[in-house]
Amino acid sequence: MIFNTLQLDGYETRRRKMVNRLEEMGISNPLVLDAMLNTPRHLFVEEALRSRSYDNLSLPIGLGQTISQPYIVARMTELLLAGKKQPLNKVLEIGTGCGYQTAVLEKVGIQNIYSIERLSSLRELAKRNLRAANFYNSRLICADGYLGLPKSAPFDGVIVTAAPKEVPIELLKQLDINGRMVLPLEKNGMQHLWVIDKYINGYQETCIQEVNFVLLLNGRK
Ligand code: SAH
Repeated sequence: MIFNTLQLDGYETRRRKMVNRLEEMGISNPLVLDAMLNTPRHLFVEEALRSRSYDNLSLPIGLGQTISQPYIVARMTELLLAGKKQPLNKVLEIGTGCGYQTAVLEKVGIQNIYSIERLSSLRELAKRNLRAANFYNSRLICADGYLGLPKSAPFDGVIVTAAPKEVPIELLKQLDINGRMVLPLEKNGMQHLWVIDKYINGYQETCIQEVNFVLLLNGRK
């Protein structure tokens, strides 16, 4: 019992330090900082890696996939929240992985979250992790994220957490007018994070920074 309490305190202290670092690195939206402070990232990584769960690192989650760096999760969430369409009621996430980004989206208060993962075993892992950390509001779907979720479209925001080589057209179509998509794109072996804002008369694309994601692959498994 005492051991558990000590361990919990340890994680809280580390999480606070992580959030201080995120602030130093330029994350400034209080909603996002608060969400990062209140989402137990250690419950989204396997036990053997938990001591590193509040370092600013991506970590393996099995099947060649990773949990994204805390900074990238915070940055993408902040970018998504800074779109024109407010409040963000319905968001589509592509690449659930272990479910950590999904949890952060819940914590910033997005009511309707749909998250697509192509590997059914990772969808199950994400579901277990989210339940264990008391997150119950997102809908987890095993499908090919390239195709999005037409029956639930349009979305106020789309966040893609694996890198395609081109912007998936279906996802653009499913984005609402004034909606925002945040995604990494790979070109010539390099990846950059992009923000795409959709307007009634076209799109505005903004390159944010270099990033390093696993690739968005074709087809569900
Ligand atoms: N969002 C995660 C990071 C996920 S890593 C986090 O919070 O840390 C990227 C995930 O995208 C992997 O789980 C991978 O299986 C998944 N993925 C790759 N291609 C996909 C596709 N076409 N559709 C849906 N998921 C895909």
